[in-house]
Amino acid sequence: LWFPPFPGGRARARHPGKPGCKRSRPAIMAALKHRRTALERVEKFLSEIYFTDCNLRGRLFGDRCPPVSLSFFQTPRRIPYDEAVGQEFRPAKVGDSFGPTWETCWFKVELSIPQAWAGREVHFVWESDGEGMVWRDGQPVQGLTKEGEKTSYILTSSLKESEPHSLTLYVELACNGLFGAGKGSMIAPPDPDRRFTLSKAELVIFNRDVYELLVDLEILLDMAQLLGEENQRSFQALYTANQMVNMCDVTDPSTFPAARDLAAAIFSQRNGESQHTIHAVGHCHIDSAWLWPYEETIRKCARSWVTVVRLMERNPELTFACSQAQQFEWVRTWYPGLYTQIQEFVAKEQFIPVGGTWVEMDGNLPSGESMVRQFLQGQLFFQEQFGRICSEFWLPDTFGYSAQLPQLMRGCGIRRFLTQKLSWNLVNTFPHHTFFWEGIDGSRVLTHFPPGDSYGMHGRVEEMLKTVKNNKDKGRVNHSALLFGFGDGGGGPTQKMLDRMKRMSDTDGLPRVQISTPDRLFSVLEKESSQLCTWVGELFLELHNGTYTTQAQIKKGNRECERILHDVEVLSTLAMARGGMFQYPASQLQQLWRLLLLNQFHDVLPGSCIQLVVEDALQYYTEIRRVGARLQEEAVQSLCRELLQPKAGSTKSTLVLNTLPWERTEVISRTGPAGTETLESVSVLSPQEDGSIRESVPDGCYANQFALFDDVPLYWDAWDVMDYHLETRKPVTMLLKPLEITLAGGLRGSVSFSLQIGKSSTLTQEIILDATCPYLRFLTQVEWKEAHKFLKVEFPVQVRSTNATYEIQFGHLQRPTHWNTSWDWARFEVWAHKWLDLSEHGFGVALLNDCKYGASAHGNILSLSLLRAPKSPDATADIAHHQFTYAVMPHLGSFQDAGVIQCAYNMNFPLHAVPASSAQCPAWSAFSVSSPAVVLETVKQDRTHQPEAVVVRLYEAHGSTVVAWLQTSLPVKEAMLCDLLERPAAQGRLPLEQRGMRLSFTPFRVLTVLLVLRR
Ligand SMILES: [Zn+2]
Repeated sequence: LWFPPFPGGRARARHPGKPGCKRSRPAIMAALKHRRTALERVEKFLSEIYFTDCNLRGRLFGDRCPPVSLSFFQTPRRIPYDEAVGQEFRPAKVGDSFGPTWETCWFKVELSIPQAWAGREVHFVWESDGEGMVWRDGQPVQGLTKEGEKTSYILTSSLKESEPHSLTLYVELACNGLFGAGKGSMIAPPDPDRRFTLSKAELVIFNRDVYELLVDLEILLDMAQLLGEENQRSFQALYTANQMVNMCDVTDPSTFPAARDLAAAIFSQRNGESQHTIHAVGHCHIDSAWLWPYEETIRKCARSWVTVVRLMERNPELTFACSQAQQFEWVRTWYPGLYTQIQEFVAKEQFIPVGGTWVEMDGNLPSGESMVRQFLQGQLFFQEQFGRICSEFWLPDTFGYSAQLPQLMRGCGIRRFLTQKLSWNLVNTFPHHTFFWEGIDGSRVLTHFPPGDSYGMHGRVEEMLKTVKNNKDKGRVNHSALLFGFGDGGGGPTQKMLDRMKRMSDTDGLPRVQISTPDRLFSVLEKESSQLCTWVGELFLELHNGTYTTQAQIKKGNRECERILHDVEVLSTLAMARGGMFQYPASQLQQLWRLLLLNQFHDVLPGSCIQLVVEDALQYYTEIRRVGARLQEEAVQSLCRELLQPKAGSTKSTLVLNTLPWERTEVISRTGPAGTETLESVSVLSPQEDGSIRESVPDGCYANQFALFDDVPLYWDAWDVMDYHLETRKPVTMLLKPLEITLAGGLRGSVSFSLQIGKSSTLTQEIILDATCPYLRFLTQVEWKEAHKFLKVEFPVQVRSTNATYEIQFGHLQRPTHWNTSWDWARFEVWAHKWLDLSEHGFGVALLNDCKYGASAHGNILSLSLLRAPKSPDATADIAHHQFTYAVMPHLGSFQDAGVIQCAYNMNFPLHAVPASSAQCPAWSAFSVSSPAVVLETVKQDRTHQPEAVVVRLYEAHGSTVVAWLQTSLPVKEAMLCDLLERPAAQGRLPLEQRGMRLSFTPFRVLTVLLVLRR
């Protein structure tokens, strides 16, 4: 008899030699110190490549049986099941290939399970390099993606006589892989002609006992290899595995239980009380569009989530955190049967909606109001569909996080935040994994980065050890998250991941692992939070800084559509509030907002997607512009009906609408008879500086200097601009058409010129100065045909300051103009919204823009990033005609007092000039705010769509503590403060006083007020 040297002893005792057991080993075991050969021996016993004729892996599957028949039909469209099965199917066979890329093949598979397989576990195995979905009886039942380690649909775990032995399945095969169809590398543009091969389609017997033993041995081998020679658990694991190989006769399954007992004994040796606890949560990061179009994502969601549902049926402990309301909405619309099953698992708290947003959006570029709507649309959806809002913000894969997010989260019922993307920092290692994150207004949220630095873990020993070792908050918190499941292109968890972690739940030498939920994790972290550190300000990602500029048309679409929806909401609300028959277009606006929010997804707005996605995104912006224009027209018609109706004898006039909350004086152009344009100054002149602003540009420097840089990153082409690009600067000096005066003065003066950029691109610019306007506008047109070049425009200014100011969502922040420390120089390319400013005491220069986001300020040079030309994943990125405007605004005093913020709004929200009939339009104002520090950003109908309720949102923009009076000419009956989800605050009632409603602000505070109108 053989007695194992350690825990196996106990296990062995429970298994006296079974009768009929073929194993008979020598009584005395040779004892050698053979760590290396033992390690490799176990490896070979598990190998998929070597010795499969005699090793354990080779026994995973038993008998096989081909389908009775296999036929297919192919379509370029993504069609529903009912339409697909009605088509004519032609014969197909294993080994055939299908395509090209983005087509869909539907296979009809007729199967007959051999009678002799009674009592066996039977799988339908399907292997292809395309992504598959199995349909049975009209319902999706299993996603099959080889790259996601899913190639089996389990027909039965033990075949019974009574079960049907003959069945018909359909497999919907998408001609794309988990990561699209990049030609040569993952992020290369898709190969349009790729073929996808069906390499396996058959019934097999699955040997569950072999599988379990394989998982045991795999973990022991990992422990042996990864715990290292200084750790005795490494040796214990190794020699247990070695003994197991000794004991197993792969041809005789009766030898397996004893081997399994040996493994169980070592896995059940417990940890001490101090051991770290890992909260494992199933997850499947699905990019809403990236290397595949939106439409494919709908199918990716279905394939991934149906697989999760199958796993949950077999593993009632499995939890799965799932973000992005949009994806739930897709599955609800296109896969109602699956959605019902998901709802059941949501009720069981296994399928866990998280994040609270419409999509996992870009964390930098969406406006403040867009960010609010991400949460509003998301949380309302989760509330309506699942009866509760999310309590954590979930954004693991976004390229940096605005310093305004903590306040927005708090305003949307969220105090917890999970991400991991800062682990991608190229320069500095972020110092925390669990910490408080404090935004520009002082709001704080508990933030956790899973220390394994991934959202797509596989439940392996290596990841558990990394999670503990890497954790930067050891001694402060003893719990952390581990998100497991294939991600990015979907896929999600597998049975094997779960089975690995079951074995590691509490094993000496490894951290404890429990299948958990985000709520359980954060609840523990909240209890442990007393010693946590605080990070103040933005979570800046030191990578992917090209995404502020790439795909300029998407950026422009975003900025423009944000403005359109703002204006439609303001005008529709006023039309509604003034009574009459006007119906607020609530459902159309919701639809348009959802399109805009979808395009803010973290691979679309950043421009890191393939050409197909860009086309879809631009199409959505076109739709928003088209419907938005109609809605605006309807609102204006209703709001100004009398003024617009032609009256006998009246002269032609112009009605000017201002959707911003302050008085404006601007030059507008009016189209007269026969298409002639005339200029006119409108509104009341507010006093300006006398024009004797001091010199803004230092001697010998040129403002409005274009510069071209080589732009070749290390890998992530559309994403990254590297620090070394700054060393390749070439000023653009080749004049194509010299400066000429186009308007000589009066209300407007302008000049124009053209430049040659690089080899084949051209730029034409009109520089405009309007009377009364404190900034100089640069209307720019570029014919852009470059490759791997970066175009910027620079303004060296006569200002000395160590910090520049950048507008962000509902506020601004400062970043250094020097490169002192690694944290400073890592921010050589940053983002801003409508303006950035460099000021010293009493004077400064601001740079405004109407659709740009990339910027920098180094020393005394302000730069605006204009165009890039990456080639992956979209080879055609930005090769187009571009039109954009920026402006330079020198100012006395601070940028706050000089009105930079208001000017940037003015440039982005042009006055609307509408032809009117009456010569004298009476001035009418709906809202005014007493303090220039406070911006009234949003006016809309409230979320419950009651015609008598209006929501207005204001924020403090100067960074000051201030009391402001909000006055309105609308018939307000009642006013109350509410949160960003428009839920009235406790004691939030606002008295209606003579001067209006009194609102107190601290720096960058966002306030939302619900106004109930008298009808
Ligand atoms: Zn992603």
